[in-house]
Amino acid sequence: MEATGASEDCCVKVAVHVRPLIGDEKLQGCKDCVTVIQGKPQVQIGTHSFTFDHVYGSTGSPSSSMFEECIVPLVDGLFQGYNATVLAYGQTGSGKTYTMGTSLKDGCQTGIIPLVMNALFSKIESLKHQIEFQLHVSFIEILKEEVRDLLDPTSLNKADTANGNTGKVNVPGKPLIQIRESSNGVITLAGSTEVGVSTLKEMAAYLEQGSLSRATGSTNMNNQSSRSHAIFTITLEQMHKANPISGDGSLNDIMSEGYLCAKLHLVDLAGSERAKRTGSDGMRFKEGVHINKGLLALGNVISALGDEKKRKEGVHVPYRDSKLTRLLQDSLGGNSRTVMIACISP
Ligand code: ADP
Ligand code: MG
Repeated sequence: MEATGASEDCCVKVAVHVRPLIGDEKLQGCKDCVTVIQGKPQVQIGTHSFTFDHVYGSTGSPSSSMFEECIVPLVDGLFQGYNATVLAYGQTGSGKTYTMGTSLKDGCQTGIIPLVMNALFSKIESLKHQIEFQLHVSFIEILKEEVRDLLDPTSLNKADTANGNTGKVNVPGKPLIQIRESSNGVITLAGSTEVGVSTLKEMAAYLEQGSLSRATGSTNMNNQSSRSHAIFTITLEQMHKANPISGDGSLNDIMSEGYLCAKLHLVDLAGSERAKRTGSDGMRFKEGVHINKGLLALGNVISALGDEKKRKEGVHVPYRDSKLTRLLQDSLGGNSRTVMIACISP
């Protein structure tokens, strides 16, 4: 996941987020073994150093500037019709959920998703006289190449009766969620819950509901959260009112279009550790590949997209290799913007 001197206009950016040592680690006398090179987006481990677009935490830039630098441009782009994806990558325990802000117990104020919601609604508030907005959210999870709806009202109650089996995944009578591509390349999820929201409070409630559904599932099913990808998607539709009151310069682009629709995917990826640990024996490897099909495919897609030379040569981008990349296909590459946040523990 090294970013090789990415240029300004590159559509894929990679940031590293170093979390501080936490309680247990301090008690065990662990020491930081990651140093951040002052004034550079570079981390050093032993004699190796790695350069990224940004480095946050553990005396790199403060984590609080991550949102401004990496995420705000994506939220602004959403209003201009650009799809975007934010991915949190890293081992279990490295801070992915904390960074995204899907954890219910902590990080709720500083996590990316709550900050995105705040930014989104304050921007909508300031534009609502000229533009009519419609917001939808969906929250799904991909586990072993199956898409699960975290906002499904019928599966919510079944959570505590699941008894460790996969009852939640296949609710009888409910068809599995299918990924479809329309003729204009827009990816949709057939069969998942997409709810309309009009207030910040509503959106936050759905985030919480989905996180809860994921958390309950993971205690019932042997910590599946570290093996699944959770994707919170915000879809923003804009419709210009017939007689816009004032012509704010920056809005001219949108004005001529009339209607715009864009989506932002906020992804808490499965723990990356199994991708490395596998490899030796056949059975394990197979399992690892299956579980991490999404991570492997994502790596391949990102490297195909991030490499300008490959892109110019028209190298095939293997979106179809996994559900994860297929689902994100219209929001990775092309005109869309992608930020990968690699979370590491020190
Ligand atoms: P992951 O989702 O990658 O498995 P978590 O987000 O659950 O990891 O983080 C593991 C632990 O580390 C949690 O207890 C969390 O509160 C803590 N943590 C993670 N990132 C930070 C941070 N930047 N500052 C303080 N604590 C953090
Ligand atoms: Mg997590």
